[in-house]
Parts: sequence; C-alpha cells; structure tokens
Amino acid sequence: MFENLSDRLERSFKILKGEGKITEINVAETLKEVRRALLDADVNYKTAKEFTETVKQKALGQNVLTAVKPQQLMVKIVHDELATLMGGTATDINIKGNPAVILMSGLQGSGKTTFSGKLANMLKTKRGKNPLLVAGDVYRPAAIEQLKILGEQIGVSVYSEEENKNPVKIAQNALQYARQHGKDLVIIDTAGRLAIDEAMMNEISAIKKAVDPEEILFVVDAMTGQDAVNTAKEFNDRLNFDGVVLTKLDGDTRGGAALSIRSVVDKPIKFVGTGEKLDAVDVFHPERMADRILGMGDIVSLVEKAQEQYDEEEARKLQKKIAKNQFDFNDFIGQIQQIKKMGNLKDLASMIPGVGKQIKDLDIDDDAFKGIEAIIRSMTPSERTNPEILNGSRRSRIAAGSGTSVSEVNKLLKQFDEMRKMMRAMSGGGKAMMRNMKRR
Ligand code: GDP
Repeated sequence: MFENLSDRLERSFKILKGEGKITEINVAETLKEVRRALLDADVNYKTAKEFTETVKQKALGQNVLTAVKPQQLMVKIVHDELATLMGGTATDINIKGNPAVILMSGLQGSGKTTFSGKLANMLKTKRGKNPLLVAGDVYRPAAIEQLKILGEQIGVSVYSEEENKNPVKIAQNALQYARQHGKDLVIIDTAGRLAIDEAMMNEISAIKKAVDPEEILFVVDAMTGQDAVNTAKEFNDRLNFDGVVLTKLDGDTRGGAALSIRSVVDKPIKFVGTGEKLDAVDVFHPERMADRILGMGDIVSLVEKAQEQYDEEEARKLQKKIAKNQFDFNDFIGQIQQIKKMGNLKDLASMIPGVGKQIKDLDIDDDAFKGIEAIIRSMTPSERTNPEILNGSRRSRIAAGSGTSVSEVNKLLKQFDEMRKMMRAMSGGGKAMMRNMKRR
C-alpha cells in the first residue's frame, strides 16, 4: 500500500541528510520533492500545496535540538501533518439508536455490499450487536443473492423482498421487521450506478428521509484516486454523509484518495477495506496510516522521545569530556540509563537512521546491558573514573562481584577503550561514528 509514495517521501528527506540546520533553502528544496511525491500519488493539487505550506511554516518555526537532526525533524513534522490531513484521530460510528440504522451509499462496484457484510460481522463479534442486513438494491437480483450468501457466512439475517421494486418501502419494512425481531442494528445496502445520476441520488435521498439513519457511510474504491474524491464531493453535497469507507486499500493504491478526501469534503474516513474476505476490514486510524506511509514511525518516536528527554546542558558537558578524553565509566553508565529510559533496545537501535531496516529482523536482547551494568556497578568510584588502574586482581574482584567472568570484564574494558578512541575521533562530527558502527 502506498509504496511509491513512501519511497518518494523517503527520498525527499534525503535532501536534508547531513545538513546541520533547517534553512529556507533546504526546506524549500525538500518540500518541492514532497509536493511532487504527493501529486504523483494523486493527491488533490490544492491539498498538496496547502500541506507543504503548513510543513514549511512548522519546520522554520521549530527550535532545533542538537539531539535531533533536521532530517529527523522533517520526518516528524511531515508525519504529524499527514495524520492531521487524514483527520487526526479515529472517528467512531454512531450506533446508539435501537435499532441504529446505517445507510450505505456509493457507486456500483465500490464494495458496498462486501463492506455491509464486513461491518455487520465486526459489530456483531466485537460490539455484541444483533444486526439485520437489508438488500436495498432492487435492480440486480444478483446483489440480493450476494448479500444472502454473506449473511449466511457470518450468521446474520438478511431482509429482502424479491418482488418489491420500491427500495424506500423495503427499507421501511425492514425497520419494522428489525423492531419485531429484536435487531438493534440495521445496515441498508443500496443500489449503486456506474456513474452518478439523478435517479440514483433521488432514490437514496428518499431512503434517507424515510428511515432517518444514525449513520450514512459513503463507500469508495481507493484505487480510483481523484475520481474517488470527486464522487465523494457529489455524494456529500446531496446526502451530507457522516463518514467514508475506503475499500481496496490492499491493491496498488497510490494514496491520493486517503490523503485528499478529508480536506475536500471535511468528513472522516471511518473504515478501510483491505481485501475480499469478510475480516479484511479495519477502523481507520490517521496516525497509524501516517506511520505506514512514512515507514519511519521509529524516527518519529525517536524525535518525540528526544524532545521529551534530552538535556541540552548534559549533552554539552559530555561532549567536552569526550573531546578531552575524560569520558569514563560513570558517563558510560549514565548513557546506558538514558538509553534505557527511552525504550527498549531493539526499538532504539532501529531508530538510528539508516540502521533501522538492516537490523529489523535481528534478535536484540533487551537485557543486553545487564552484564555491562553489573560490571560497572562492581567498580569502585576511582576505578570508574580511572579505568587504567584496573589490574588483574581488581578485575577478578569485579568479575566475582558482578557475577560475571574475568574474560567478560576484559571484553568490556577493551570495548570501552575502543569506544573512547572512536568517540574522540568523531567528536568533531557524527560521520566517523556511523562508519565505525557499520564496520563493527
Ligand atoms: P458493490 O457493487 O458496491 O456492492 O460492490 P461489491 O461489494 O460487490 O464489490 C465489488 C468487488 O470488489 C467484489 O469483487 C469484491 O469482492 C471486491 N472488493 C470489495 N471490497 C474489497 C477490498 O477491500 N479489497 C479487495 N481487494 N476487493 C474488494
């Protein structure tokens, strides 16, 4: 899903790689690419323009932390704005009435009937509802049959009147049937046409008027991109629907519909269909979708955590110590604490830009620091500040005290020594460190 858009955005952010700070120029360059990526994903022109403008203002207005690189900051801002663009937080459907009535609208082939089944199933199994599905497509006998088959699969009753050609009447009768049979939820599937026409709009408006639904959902095929947005607008003008269902998100969707609908019709996307099977449906979460689009959720949380935790003053002190080769075991354990505070080790390692993907499948033990911490804690204060004094007898004492072995203590001392050298070498910039880390 949205693979092309994800790749393109990732490439846009590369422009900021190695940049020390956010400037008008590098932001403009990056956002030019971001905008192109959005347009190629079939995002509405106006939406894309407004989006990049907002991101620009936010990026230039940010107080950049030394702990956060411009590239990471940009990822975070774009992420948050993508989530906002798609509606911010998830919006629930209203199923409070008894029976609560949900009316489906949309073009033929959009996935209305399939989604009606999915929704009935979801509300039945997850929210304890007792739904009734109503076959309101009187023009295609196959549609009634299709709904009956779905109903059977999920154990939900289907109301239909084969001989009746009046969908308004059928909907009213269905409501009465629901009341008589203890159904607390009525889902009305309606007829769709291949394109919007007056008769179709009049018909569904009449059903709306007759049954006064709690919730009107507009179902649209995400693969249709800009057309989806235009259709949404026309339906909304006529029906003033409550939410959008984006189907076929499992296909080769570019993303335009998901990203533009909210800003064009100002109605939330409530569900997404992700396959033909009856369980292939999800509640739509804008934040999670933004995570998926960027594929960089890790950087986003890294920036958030750094913004929460990072102590600029401490960082500067540490930098000075490193430059003077005074980095000692006290600092080391302090760093370990800091890292531990920020989350689990695997998450953290995968947050390092450029490292994330490579190590995703590696098994990193969350307790990896345990032995190291035990060894350092078994050192005396003077040993921690002057590791040079750690002779053989001190080493065996530490091994015994920490429940490790002399060879483990030796290994840590050697690593610490190498690390110190490396830190000193790179105290001018981060590049040497990245090179060294990759070599390890
Ligand atoms: P309707 O005419 O609006 O009622 O559309 P249907 O429910 O009959 O769906 C049209 C076609 O799209 C059917 O072949 C469905 O199996 C398929 N379909 C519906 N939703 C999805 C989805 O989320 N993903 C995929 N891949 N196919 C879907």
